[in-house]
Amino acid sequence: MWVLLAGVLFGTACMASPVEIRIVYDNSSAEPFLRADWGFAAVVDAGAARILFDAGADGAILLRNLSAMGVQPASITHAVISHRHADHRNGLFTLALKNRSLKAYFLDSFPAEIYELAGAVALDPVRVREPIEIAPGVFSTGTVPGDPDEQALVVETGGGLVLLTGCSHPGVASMVEAACRQRNAKTVRLVLGGFHLHRLSDELIQQVIDRLRELGVEQVAPAHCTGERAIQLFRRAYGPRCLPAGAGRRFLIE
Ligand SMILES: [Zn+2]
Ligand SMILES: [Zn+2]
Repeated sequence: MWVLLAGVLFGTACMASPVEIRIVYDNSSAEPFLRADWGFAAVVDAGAARILFDAGADGAILLRNLSAMGVQPASITHAVISHRHADHRNGLFTLALKNRSLKAYFLDSFPAEIYELAGAVALDPVRVREPIEIAPGVFSTGTVPGDPDEQALVVETGGGLVLLTGCSHPGVASMVEAACRQRNAKTVRLVLGGFHLHRLSDELIQQVIDRLRELGVEQVAPAHCTGERAIQLFRRAYGPRCLPAGAGRRFLIE
């Protein structure tokens, strides 16, 4: 079955209950019954909130993968879209037709056309600029400036932060720095998502890895647009603390 425990992290939790993260959309799939497709989406269960972080490129694939993983579309309470690119937000507009009470969070700087697409399916997204609490213990970093701007999802736990990134266009280290500064944190238990390092030289990738270690990043799960070579270098640097990604992977944070 789909339940594949890719990472179990222990520590004193800030959240009253464990946080569970499931990758539901990624360039690769960890399960034969889930479709792989270029894009990213993850479901985060934190307390009473079920947050979809990004929504993939294709609504039909998103709904199919959610269903195969036992996630009812109507059970999702919030949707946070990291940045404007279609492979992170297009699936949302199909999902919204199955979930009339979904609360969506877009960056204020998204182009007007994306707000129009949302309006066409009766979504009225929160326009995020500053860091904002989405649910108890779960935050958006707000706008991290880049090309394009991006927001990361941050879960505060007693053992440090857990960060989800879409593509990390502003730079994954900048995303981590913003989250640590905002939450006054010195430890990051896990960074999961796209790191966008596929066009960089080994030397530049190594600089990013070194910076993440300086920032106290304990574990990484590079996904989506990170790039094969960068994933190899993360594996070399982090060993077993570089966790495999792909649709179907599940991370339980005690
Ligand atoms: Zn992307
Ligand atoms: Zn992107």
